[in-house]
Amino acid sequence: MNKYDSELISGILRCGNFDIIDDIEKADAVLINTCAVREHAENRALSNIRQLKNLKKRRPEVILGVLGCMSKYLGSKIIKDNPFVDIVLGPDSYRKLPEILKDKKRCEDIFTREYENYSDIFPLKKKGVCAWVAISRGCNEDCSYCVVPYTRGRERSRSVKSITDEIKRLLDEGFKEVTLLGQNVNSYNYQDVDFPGLLEKVSEIEGLKRVRFATSHPMNLSDGLVDVMKERKNICPHLHLPVQSGSNKILKTMRRNYTKEKYINLVEKAKSKIKDLTITTDIISGFPGETENDHRLTVDLVKKVKFDSGFTFKYSPREKTDAYKYGDDVPENVKIERLEEISEILREISLKKNREWIGKITEIMIEGKSRKSDSKVFGRTDGFKKVILRQNNFSIGTFVNVLTTDATSHTLFGKVVESKET
Ligand code: SAH
Ligand code: SF4
Repeated sequence: MNKYDSELISGILRCGNFDIIDDIEKADAVLINTCAVREHAENRALSNIRQLKNLKKRRPEVILGVLGCMSKYLGSKIIKDNPFVDIVLGPDSYRKLPEILKDKKRCEDIFTREYENYSDIFPLKKKGVCAWVAISRGCNEDCSYCVVPYTRGRERSRSVKSITDEIKRLLDEGFKEVTLLGQNVNSYNYQDVDFPGLLEKVSEIEGLKRVRFATSHPMNLSDGLVDVMKERKNICPHLHLPVQSGSNKILKTMRRNYTKEKYINLVEKAKSKIKDLTITTDIISGFPGETENDHRLTVDLVKKVKFDSGFTFKYSPREKTDAYKYGDDVPENVKIERLEEISEILREISLKKNREWIGKITEIMIEGKSRKSDSKVFGRTDGFKKVILRQNNFSIGTFVNVLTTDATSHTLFGKVVESKET
């Protein structure tokens, strides 16, 4: 979502006739887009900001801006602690940027009255084949640990037309796959079009090869969604379904509004309907009040569901959330031990599941050159598994059938057995 926001900011600046460049030394303004979801992300952003102090000393005319959720979360503290920063803008104030930059004014604006959805802005993207498209902003859930409802405000859905228009324009620019984004895509609602309805309309757009979406909140994953995924061939069989914990007691204090049993039931039902469905997840370790027994319940759940992969996070207390008031009573070393145990089990399961692909043929779309070697390309299966090919004679966006020859917990390796048309 943050990367998409950076593309939106670039789109706004382009409309204001600014050029976007990567070279900080040549830039007239440097903008840092930030996340506030965990302290770790915040510390990284603050360290990036501090590194700009020297630049400002050498070239005082450069305008430095801090944008995004951390701006809203920390507010005036950013300029107080870093007086060389000129601009602080929250996630609903990006439209003001061109004017502020032209006037070269100092500005702090974190409390806009109006919540934005930037529907009329076309994000400026790097060339490629996979694009993100936000379908909603903000969040109406009330997870007790999460700062997003505070930083991004109440959920508002974009109109169906603005979403489909954006996708059509992306297709004209050569993109072939879109990932629909929202904090909880399943609660999308625009003039009685719900998420399955939107997904159906999007998947009918001519030329769109693949549709993905994230994130699905387990609470409102409907039968309708599973049916649309099953019926429409270009909707990828992958659900990112954050479970957060396997303990009903913790799920309750997290205010996730589902139980472990309901979660398992949802996954089993979806898997029984959609062939080769992959399920990925997020898990938080060391939430306030989490006992060894609660942790064991999470371990059991991970083993039972057999996630294709998962992100694990140490609980990070965030001011302005209710969980902040519960204290942070799991010691750091225990949080780390639990996180490592869960990560290790997730890794073992991923490896086992990935190795099951060895000897099988699957279709992938080539997405780019491998990061490690120019002589290899990578693509993804429709289930979001990354596949590396030791060949580079395929152009980006090509669909090929691949025989998997090897696998690690992260990646499949394979060779093309028969090309398909793009
Ligand atoms: N809306 C999405 C994504 C939210 S942020 C969702 O509900 O899944 C992504 C992940 O960050 C969450 O799923 C959660 O696992 C993690 N997270 C959020 N707040 C956190 C906190 N205070 N400490 C640790 N992890 C957190
Ligand atoms: Fe945060 Fe929960 Fe909303 Fe996700 S669903 S953004 S975790 S409040």
